[in-house]
Amino acid sequence: MVKRPPFHEVDVPVVELARLQPLIGEDRYAALVGEAARTRAALRGCTVWNVNSTAKGGGVAEMLQVLVGYILGVGVAVRWLVIAGSPEFFSVTKRIHNRLHGVPGDGGVLDAAEAAAYQSVQTANARAIAPHIRPADVVILHDPQTAGLAAPLKAAGAVVLWRCHIGSEAQNDWTEEAWSFLRPHLAACDGFVFTRREFVPAWVPMDRVSIIPPSIDPFSPKNQELSEVQRHQILAAMGMLDGKATGAATFTRRDGSVGLVARRATVIAEGPLDAASPLVLQVSRWDHLKDMAGVMAGFATLVPGRGGAQLALVGPAVDDVSDDPEGHEVLEQCIAAWSALPARQRRQIRLLTLPMVDADENAAMVNALQRHATVVVQKSLAEGFGLTVAEGMWKAKAVVASAVGGIVDQVVPGTGVLLDDPRDLDAFGQALVSLLDRPEEALRLGANARRHVLEGFVGDEHLMHYGALMERLKAP
Ligand code: UDP
Repeated sequence: MVKRPPFHEVDVPVVELARLQPLIGEDRYAALVGEAARTRAALRGCTVWNVNSTAKGGGVAEMLQVLVGYILGVGVAVRWLVIAGSPEFFSVTKRIHNRLHGVPGDGGVLDAAEAAAYQSVQTANARAIAPHIRPADVVILHDPQTAGLAAPLKAAGAVVLWRCHIGSEAQNDWTEEAWSFLRPHLAACDGFVFTRREFVPAWVPMDRVSIIPPSIDPFSPKNQELSEVQRHQILAAMGMLDGKATGAATFTRRDGSVGLVARRATVIAEGPLDAASPLVLQVSRWDHLKDMAGVMAGFATLVPGRGGAQLALVGPAVDDVSDDPEGHEVLEQCIAAWSALPARQRRQIRLLTLPMVDADENAAMVNALQRHATVVVQKSLAEGFGLTVAEGMWKAKAVVASAVGGIVDQVVPGTGVLLDDPRDLDAFGQALVSLLDRPEEALRLGANARRHVLEGFVGDEHLMHYGALMERLKAP
């Protein structure tokens, strides 16, 4: 029997940079093309390997789905591998994830047994990946799940970068513990990429750090324009609206072909969505730090009765996200909290889980929901960046989001409402009410939000940063 490698490779369709030109204008496009040429020259003969732990669900997968396509379009050999791990491994890495955000997570320890569970998965993946690496290739390891590959892949001859998409501005005993766990694994890295300067721990040499904020792709199924008819058809096809869908629910796939929303979301609700009423929406993984339950509680106490506004809490089907063991528990808790609400509040609130089988179809569902929303919420208790914020802002939505992590780089004054204390449910409810009561203010913020995302978060700047980093690494 042939033994299957523990990792798998994700195929990403090639995307031409030229697609960005009409959006970003001549000057930015010329700068991008210039950087692309320099990067291509610097990386001649090398492959850039991205390694992470899931192909779907969450911001890293979302970003790689499109970023890899643009880099291929530049003519750079880039590949994306997804490591496999045991349930014990993912509960250790989820613990590290929570602790890097300053909270204990499941409260378990990070001792010798956890180190062994972590190491054995890294060893198996390193053994399988290393033979593919050629000297001078560049390996970008994403997040704590892959940090343990740094030393073996460096030993295989690669230049190794670790890109950390998470972090916290404040350090405490939990962050210290997680960093102590990871630090020995990261000693071999040639460079580090963080989303924000505030996330860099003191022991990382700053001359090896690049600060690169993430980005969205305006043309991906997640963010592409949808006509009102398309939006309606997608919402109907996924089971959000009453009655049968009229016409096929189409969108454009990443490879340019026509996609069809054929699967349904699992909807927990009492009755169909009232398409004519305002919709408040939070889309996120079922993770305690996203505080879906807090969104529900804050909405439930203040909003029902005000113009018929409804709330949708939307996340992935929990069985479909391999590296997130908290998903089941958080979703169950949300369903229990929803069931315990008074009937009048429950009627205004729905929970949805979206099938993740087809990443493009899933993205089209999220796109239709975000475009249908009146207010997009991201009430995270901690956040690396929060792509869902940029996604909502790009769709010209008024955003209500916590002033944590990378969200504060996105929601600058005049582009949305920031919550200074994400646990203050009263302030959250008031923020929703103030936007639902003043639709013209919501429109004004939304228009500014879209402009702000266009300036800094639509991909060209991200690619420019990456290119400059590759040039530096490969400088003679
Ligand atoms: N997302 C999705 N389907 C879902 C839930 C989330 O496609 O059911 C996407 C969401 O649109 C965003 C990403 O997952 O693109 C989440 O990224 P973010 O940076 O907001 O948070 P993370 O999950 O990385 O903590």
